[in-house]
Amino acid sequence: MTRERSRELLLATRNDGKIRELRELLDGAPFVLRSLAEFPHVPEAEETGETFEENAAIKASFYGNATGLPALADDSGLEVAALGGAPGVRSARYAGKDVGYDVKIARLLEELGRIGVADRRARFVCVAALFDPMTGSVRLFRGVCAGRLADAPRGAGGFGYDPIFVPDGYDDSFGQLSSDVKQLISHRALAVATAREFLMKS
Ligand code: IMP
Repeated sequence: MTRERSRELLLATRNDGKIRELRELLDGAPFVLRSLAEFPHVPEAEETGETFEENAAIKASFYGNATGLPALADDSGLEVAALGGAPGVRSARYAGKDVGYDVKIARLLEELGRIGVADRRARFVCVAALFDPMTGSVRLFRGVCAGRLADAPRGAGGFGYDPIFVPDGYDDSFGQLSSDVKQLISHRALAVATAREFLMKS
């Protein structure tokens, strides 16, 4: 009888909301999931890229090299059509890196109100990057979830901008919808599903 040895995979993020979702999305896959909490001395990667792809690749290779483990990184953000795609790759830093999401959301709605357009289209984008320490290669997987911005934050579920994002086909925000729904249709779910498929084949 052959027994397949479980492989290790580092979840290359310190964002608790992402970690929770990534763990669920990888549930049942034959990987021993490792966390950056096990490597407290590894410094934070500098997200110097201008695109989700660049930043995801930077994080996966930085944390993969620092730990010697295969690594899965996620770079993601909210793109608002009427703001030309902002905050986009700067979603986590929007209105200040250490500012809470109540403030970020208020600033975003205020900015939208100031330009006075009716267009509330928005989308969440996620690029998952897989780093292989044996070859140094990085593979990228993109997922997009289209929707619109609510007039005001609604619901306490999820994290980040979830209370103001209403996915297409729904009336409730990601803050109101169950996590089961988000884990079926989100940008992260779509990106990680293809990354998971790739990992299972390799
Ligand atoms: P980064 O990928 O670490 O640069 O940060 C991504 C940021 O985008 C998060 O900190 C959130 O502000 C936002 N974001 C990404 N995915 C989600 C999501 O699923 N829900 C809500 N906000 C998200």
